[in-house]
Amino acid sequence: MRRREFLRTLTGVALPGAASAVRAPRGLKITDVRVVVTNPERSPMGNFVLVKIVTSEDGLYGWGDATCTGSELAVAKFIEEYMRPVLIGRDPMRLEDIWQTLFHHPYYRSGSVHMSALSGVDMALWDIKGKVAGLPVYELLGGRARTKLLTYTSVSGRDFREVEEGARRMIERGYKVLKVQVRAPGLESGYAVPPSERQRAATEKAHQAGVPPVETWEPDAYVRTIPKLFEHLRKTLGEEIELLHDVHERITPSQALWLARALEPFRPFFLEDPLRPEHADTFRLIRRQCSTPIAMGEIWTGQWDGLFLITEHLIDYVRHDLCHCGGITTGKKIATIAEPFGILTAWHGPSNISPIAQRANCHVSLSVPNFGIQECRTNWPDAAREVFSSAPTYSEGYVNIGDEPGLGIEIDEEAAAKYPYLRRYRPLIRRADDSAWAY
Ligand SMILES: [Mg+2]
Repeated sequence: MRRREFLRTLTGVALPGAASAVRAPRGLKITDVRVVVTNPERSPMGNFVLVKIVTSEDGLYGWGDATCTGSELAVAKFIEEYMRPVLIGRDPMRLEDIWQTLFHHPYYRSGSVHMSALSGVDMALWDIKGKVAGLPVYELLGGRARTKLLTYTSVSGRDFREVEEGARRMIERGYKVLKVQVRAPGLESGYAVPPSERQRAATEKAHQAGVPPVETWEPDAYVRTIPKLFEHLRKTLGEEIELLHDVHERITPSQALWLARALEPFRPFFLEDPLRPEHADTFRLIRRQCSTPIAMGEIWTGQWDGLFLITEHLIDYVRHDLCHCGGITTGKKIATIAEPFGILTAWHGPSNISPIAQRANCHVSLSVPNFGIQECRTNWPDAAREVFSSAPTYSEGYVNIGDEPGLGIEIDEEAAAKYPYLRRYRPLIRRADDSAWAY
């Protein structure tokens, strides 16, 4: 009933019965493409780049997420200056054709800026298609292959005890899988761990000065520490809870192999991004010598980037970011490529992508047969809830979305305007000898 009413508002045509074909309004065209950059949380990683595609049909538009932290304004400009003129006047229902057109049009293609822009447009077009059909996007992708999505959250601390306490709180909330990170002794900071007071003050000073903060990183202490953290958590929390860890590509191939082997007795759920994407062949080192499951992909910007690791059985989870790899269209294709290789999905779902992309992740995850787990932020602050009408909901270790047409999310543009772009830079990661290192 709701679907028929919705279609009636779009087409002005009453649908006589369930057998009626769903048709897009005749002559439907894209009339405008707008970009909204907003940072409701006022946080260094909180600038969201939202794309609104408006059509010739009154009240029919779609929202997408083109957020690429660190290049937000470049992506916004790319959409406005280079994609908008290509999109205006096109039939928004021809999604695959538009995707291919926007991918090939620049000639010098791919990369994080181009592909984040394309991802946002792709999501907005799926939103429109779902609204026209009166169906949630996951129905258009094949329907629910499951009723809810296994998820995990991050727990970090300055020492093992802090991580353990945080883990106990999350286990109490029903989480079955946790990402665990700890600051290594002797370091002021690290990936996804609380910085020291000294580092915190230095970072804030850099933000105020409008320059990137600097963090010093030495991998040796970190590599030695993580297996001890897992040993501690297995001793204190037991075997039931699943634990995973994110290396964030900050170590060398031989360190990654040593770490993967050292973690093996503690049965990690997966080891995330152990090696740099530029060193794809080094994944063989780990695969040949240990059984620790490997997840990779959040930094990839297309369906081709991880292909070698899939077809050579070198990873267990594909972790593309649907905000950077080409959107829902690419996510579905990657899952299809990975399925016959027995590789599962674990789409990147960090705090620095908006609830639109979090929902897009869920639509694909719900529909693919080879779903593994869905990283998903659920603790949105009030300001974000003012801007975004919905986000995936959490219950007892799982996330879910409703059955609203399209992506199922609305943006309050007036509220978004209250929280404009905030200039903040990612930290520069330097070794103790002041040489550059991977983030
Ligand atoms: Mg990661």
